[in-house]
Amino acid sequence: MDLSQNALQITSSMTLEITAKAKQLKSQGIDVVDFGVGEPDFDTPDYIKDAAIDAIKKGYTKYTPSSGIIELKKAICAKLLRDNRLSYEPEQIVVSNGAKHSIYNALCAILNPEDEVIIPVPYWLSYPEMVRLANGKPVFIKTKEENDFKITGKELKNSITKKTKALILNSPNNPTGSVYTKEELEEIAKVIVEANIFVISDEIYEKLIYEGSHVSIASLNEKIKELTIVVNGMSKAYAMTGWRIGYTASSREIAKVMSNIQSHTTSNPNSIAQYASVAALSGDETIIKKMAEEFNKRRIYMVERINKIKGLKSNKPKGAFYVMVNIDEYIGKEINGKVIRGSIDFANALIEGANVAVVPALPFGMDNYIRISYATSIENIEKGLSRIEEFLNNI
Ligand code: PMP
Repeated sequence: MDLSQNALQITSSMTLEITAKAKQLKSQGIDVVDFGVGEPDFDTPDYIKDAAIDAIKKGYTKYTPSSGIIELKKAICAKLLRDNRLSYEPEQIVVSNGAKHSIYNALCAILNPEDEVIIPVPYWLSYPEMVRLANGKPVFIKTKEENDFKITGKELKNSITKKTKALILNSPNNPTGSVYTKEELEEIAKVIVEANIFVISDEIYEKLIYEGSHVSIASLNEKIKELTIVVNGMSKAYAMTGWRIGYTASSREIAKVMSNIQSHTTSNPNSIAQYASVAALSGDETIIKKMAEEFNKRRIYMVERINKIKGLKSNKPKGAFYVMVNIDEYIGKEINGKVIRGSIDFANALIEGANVAVVPALPFGMDNYIRISYATSIENIEKGLSRIEEFLNNI
């Protein structure tokens, strides 16, 4: 079949293999501990659900303006001012079907064929694929564990070519949990402004931060603000992954182009979820803080335990809900008669031998790591890590 060459280069998610295996084992009645999850295990808070029910009852169930209702844009502007010291007008906000959609819209708005987009490694696996789909070319900067998996301004400068159009920055980071400090962002911002390229700043894990504080790169000065497309959303902070609301804040020019693209591809994001998001952003954040406190307890427990398990080590992540676990010790070794060539083999060994599902980090660009999520109960974490420990002690 003669299909789109551009679309054919997009890979399917390699992590699905493990997920499928975990599902299969569960359907056989086997108790699998799932450390693969990428969403909060908490329920969406009631005050948000109530606002959605209210919206349905009031009949807010029709098309809305394509880039979002004015009430939500205003609530987003208020949030950006309150939390990030960023001043935007509603025309600069585009509400989309999740932050993933926001990022794709942003890439479509800025890229010409063959434009390069710099992506630090390890990365959230959708970034390179979305860049390719939008006709761009991903260019990678490998980070080091010693530097907490963060790029420096100097490394960024060395990777910029005439074709560079943008950097995708993600802090707090998936999969590493790293958080950039203000000073580090200042260095990066200086390089961005000098090179006059864009930065797509994915801040979706902003509320899940346990050490230090979140700084939006756009808040550093007016010049970098003009070049930044701030991406955020409801999924992680408010346990609203299924509601599909994300948003961008950018220059008016970019917002207009993104809004035009969206008007012809998906129209407006779900009307009911938009009203629920107004309540989420304007409400009392006590419950949100409680969720973050619970994640923090799990983080501390998990990192301590991992570093006591034979052959595993990990940095202490400062945000999000993932731990990148270094598996160097096991690469090239045999487990149950099979040579471990990389993270996929190791993840397979864990699910087969210990009934624990983890995510191999190959699709994040680093094959000597696995990603373990702590978006699951402390009991599950305890059980899963004990199983891994016992399994690795006995090989
Ligand atoms: N960015 C990052 C780094 C993510 O991990 C995710 C979700 N896994 C998203 C964006 C997308 O979130 P959503 O589309 O649910 O808003």
